[in-house]
Amino acid sequence: MMRDLHFKPIVPLLLLLAFLGFWLLWKNPSHQELHATTRLAMGTLVSVSTWGATEAEDENGVNWVFSRIKEVESWASKQIPSSLVYKINHSPKGTLLEVPEELVTVVHTGLEIRNLSGGAFDPGLGYLVDLWGFGNGVAEEGKIPETQKIAAWLEERNKHHDFGIQWVKTANGGMAIQWGGFAYELDLGGIAKGYAMDLAMESLKLSGIPNALIVAGGDMIIAGSKGGKPWRIGIQHPRDHNKVMAFAEITGDMAMSTSGDYERFFMANGERQHHILDPKTGKPSRSGLISVSIQTSTSIKADALSTAVFVLGMKEGKALIEKLDGVEGMLVHENGERWKSPGFKGQWLEGS
Ligand code: AMP
Ligand code: MG
Repeated sequence: MMRDLHFKPIVPLLLLLAFLGFWLLWKNPSHQELHATTRLAMGTLVSVSTWGATEAEDENGVNWVFSRIKEVESWASKQIPSSLVYKINHSPKGTLLEVPEELVTVVHTGLEIRNLSGGAFDPGLGYLVDLWGFGNGVAEEGKIPETQKIAAWLEERNKHHDFGIQWVKTANGGMAIQWGGFAYELDLGGIAKGYAMDLAMESLKLSGIPNALIVAGGDMIIAGSKGGKPWRIGIQHPRDHNKVMAFAEITGDMAMSTSGDYERFFMANGERQHHILDPKTGKPSRSGLISVSIQTSTSIKADALSTAVFVLGMKEGKALIEKLDGVEGMLVHENGERWKSPGFKGQWLEGS
């Protein structure tokens, strides 16, 4: 009897306190569900959206994301003289350079996609990319390189059957790389961003944030949901950058990369001279495709494959997508033709 009398007022009081607690959490602006941060990295705007994290958790996760991205940039960038890729490219032929596992992973994946695409994707186009002036971001005042220089590069390359880089195991179990000459200068511009995105999402998950969307230019990676609702994403119209051409609602883990001829280009000879080069011609790809989006489980693969399919063109690009498990694609041709694989998550926007 005593007990009942004692407890009865406490139960509703506890309930009221619990309710108040939830209400305060709900109302308190320092506990928003959605946090969005945008910073400049990898030569583009990178935006990180997280759902369900506290302010402190979000801040911690986001800082981790950007430090991982900076780390990748610091070894993978071709422009920074202190980077490993720069060192590899500028060492005399035959130099042995010890490299971290991360570089081995990215170069190996690049070579894998090179094989899969019959050479359409090639992580060794550094010399060409610089020749066309795309090594330093936008080549606004671009000039078509001398035909002779392109021809010399093609000739040099055709002399070598392999990639021109030798891997050597070091005594301590590490890896060293031996550079193979100007025909195979490393350029990880078509793949390193994707790799960095995978690490970025991994960092968020490890910091206790399972629901997030990271967008960096044409690359994005998604995890979980927005409070049970899908993340909404748009794909830019290749000829009208203010317009969305397609959109998708996505829940769960997925990476998507878009390669387009509108990202970096200059006009010359009445043609769009853009940053996606065809290793067979040494010139901007003229496959007819103007936008390619690839969806798959990792961003590194999505990134490299979008570039590969862009160069392959509609017919061969479709065939590659159909051949690969877990890879979906959306292709836009300059003649207006559009195609997407049945498993591609997204819809064309009417009138786009
Ligand atoms: P993305 O924007 O992902 O399609 O990558 C384009 C970037 O990759 C360019 O800016 C170059 O640095 C590099 N690149 C250009 N053409 C190729 C190619 N055929 N294979 C691999 N990388 C390329
Ligand atoms: Mg790419």
